[in-house]
Amino acid sequence: MAVLGLPERRVLMRLFFVVLICIAALGAGWSLYRAVFVDNSAPTLKAADPGSGEFGIAVSAPVQIAFRKAMKQSTITSSTLRLLDSNDNLVPATLSYQPDNFTAILKPTAPLEYSATYQVMITGGPSGIQDRRGKSLVSDLSWSFTTAAPLPPPPTEGPGGPILVVASSSNPFSRYYAEILRNEGFNQFAVADIPLVTSARLKEYDIVILGEFPLDQEQTKMLGDWVRGGGNLIAMRPDKHLAEQIGLKDMGAVLRDGYLSINTSQAPGTGLVKQSIQFHGPADRYESNGTSDLATLYQNATVAVGSPAVALKKLGSGLLAVFTYDLARSVVYTRQGNPAWQATERDGIIPIRSDDLFYGPAASDPQPDWVDLSKIAIPQADLQQRLLANLILYMNYRKKPLPRFWYFPHGFKAVVIMTGDDHGHGGTLGRFLLLWAKDAPDCSLANWQCVRATSNIYPGTIRVSQAVELTNGGFEIGLHLYTRCLDWPSETFREPNGTLGRRLSWQAADSLYSRQLAEFRAAYPAHPSPQTSRVDCVTRGDYDTQPQVELRHGIRLDTNYYYWPPKWVSNLPGMFTGSGMPMRFAKLDGSLIDVYQATTQMTDESGLTYPFTIDSLLSNALGPEEYYGAFTANMHTDRPESPGADAIVAAAQARGVPIVSARQMLTWLDGRNGSSFQRLTWDGQNLEFTVSVGQGGNGIRTLVPIKSAGGVLREIAVDDNPINYIKRWFTGMEYAEFSSPPGRYRASYAPQKR
Ligand SMILES: [Zn+2]
Repeated sequence: MAVLGLPERRVLMRLFFVVLICIAALGAGWSLYRAVFVDNSAPTLKAADPGSGEFGIAVSAPVQIAFRKAMKQSTITSSTLRLLDSNDNLVPATLSYQPDNFTAILKPTAPLEYSATYQVMITGGPSGIQDRRGKSLVSDLSWSFTTAAPLPPPPTEGPGGPILVVASSSNPFSRYYAEILRNEGFNQFAVADIPLVTSARLKEYDIVILGEFPLDQEQTKMLGDWVRGGGNLIAMRPDKHLAEQIGLKDMGAVLRDGYLSINTSQAPGTGLVKQSIQFHGPADRYESNGTSDLATLYQNATVAVGSPAVALKKLGSGLLAVFTYDLARSVVYTRQGNPAWQATERDGIIPIRSDDLFYGPAASDPQPDWVDLSKIAIPQADLQQRLLANLILYMNYRKKPLPRFWYFPHGFKAVVIMTGDDHGHGGTLGRFLLLWAKDAPDCSLANWQCVRATSNIYPGTIRVSQAVELTNGGFEIGLHLYTRCLDWPSETFREPNGTLGRRLSWQAADSLYSRQLAEFRAAYPAHPSPQTSRVDCVTRGDYDTQPQVELRHGIRLDTNYYYWPPKWVSNLPGMFTGSGMPMRFAKLDGSLIDVYQATTQMTDESGLTYPFTIDSLLSNALGPEEYYGAFTANMHTDRPESPGADAIVAAAQARGVPIVSARQMLTWLDGRNGSSFQRLTWDGQNLEFTVSVGQGGNGIRTLVPIKSAGGVLREIAVDDNPINYIKRWFTGMEYAEFSSPPGRYRASYAPQKR
């Protein structure tokens, strides 16, 4: 978004740089003096990438070792810097040294093996690596890292496992359950279209999630028989003949865009939100008749309609759960806004932006807000996904406990994605240097301990050398696509049902991205092409064209959902898309787009105050509410100083919450989603599974339930060696949580002694 550049600010900025340069000059002078006259100390390592114990490392990644001072290049050789494979064989590699940042680089001549452990060996002492004055490293150094698994299946498929998503090409929302399962860490599923599902195939699975689409008589019978024989079926707004099998009585009515209340007095609803929350799309009304109602439908925030939202009942020796609405559709609509309001100016402030999809009080068409602002603090969509996750574990209890991954690396419950837009004013460098100065000593970039950020810029805003230095330091420079703050050109099209609709002109949007990305690449030739983005004025247009255009240009994380304008926000901190989880977009018809939506919940132009806003988000995330999330900030980088950014960083650091760039989040999301559980077995007491970690999944942690039908958890071992774990309560269930680099894990349970 745009900020006015005032002349006084320019003067202040210049003054700031003069001071900065003076400090830099003093520092450089001191280093030079030390280097020439004083420094007789032994050289030491400043940082290594990959560092000790890191995993999910790309098989093509070089090993980079930064020293604290200049080194003698001739001492960096294949006998002083070595990479060994797991059989202690030397990995062929080329070596180089960058004098400007004292960094040695080892580049394997061929890609490394997948999911394999490698050891970096550095020789110290007289025959080892030396600095320019001939001082050696005090002793030998070595550490190991583990490479990533091979590329995962596409996002609409799963790696296989005990869960089956049954989908249909007639309703692409049915495949969005793959994205929901991945977000909830259940990466142990397959996806199959209904015509390919047979009773023989069903026998291979513990749990089936059935998307919303019509079933024929045979399919209804096949699924019913499978449940009666012991299967666990979770059916989304199912065919009424299926719902009737557990006694639900069709009332022939539909409730749209209502509320539901989760029964938190017993599992699987324990620990979830007590007040009513919204769903979107249609829900079928049933009378319950002997079912256990896990959630009930409400016509508004306070009045129940007497129908279940989620019902569960034993059927034969299996269990059938019915969501009377389609959870996937509801999640997508909640996150992406009201499809009926697409390409419409509702807040009265041009251009059409994402908030127009949520804004109720339009002058020409006053409606309730798409998100009930009294519930803005609640991640309403996330909590419904968590109900599904609890239900999966609850239903499968008698079969086997299931492992799941935690949302963020290292068990973080909250993350700040720090971004800023710079409209050619050039504050990016100053801001990044200020943030850099807030790093904890010896912070690890790979482990999200350093303060990093993204600046979306107009090409030319900062110098090439500065961009290189900042990106080498882990900051991200992206493109702030300029739209002149006008609506995207639109075009009419014919809907499948024959009516005329309006949508953003693909060609106009596409050529704008092509042109400005080409300018970016020309200005920063050595720089990676931007993978994350925010558009100037967050011009949005319609429901789904923009992320598709972004994907075509390699942009895979989008921060354009923007909590704004002030008259609507009213200084109420929260999650207007009902979510703190970056998840993939869907098209209007429900098909997945491989671009993550990381909503900007905090801005410096929405009338939100700081630190009130960040304090509120973080205390809800870290406190008993368990409103976990990745919270994106846009603190404009037009000028170096930003009280909002300072307040956000201080609040996050005080609570041990990481501050990362959008690109770091993208890397993690792909890494987590590319990780999976494989070869899962259960013998009644021992749950065994292989963890495979995708590229970028460093820091991934696995949770297994403490209680199972085989008793209480006694031990967790990897490759037969017991490992440490911590206990974590998470939405009403107790888990053992542990770091999970690739390996074969065993969770052993035993009956509790009386
Ligand atoms: Zn802008």
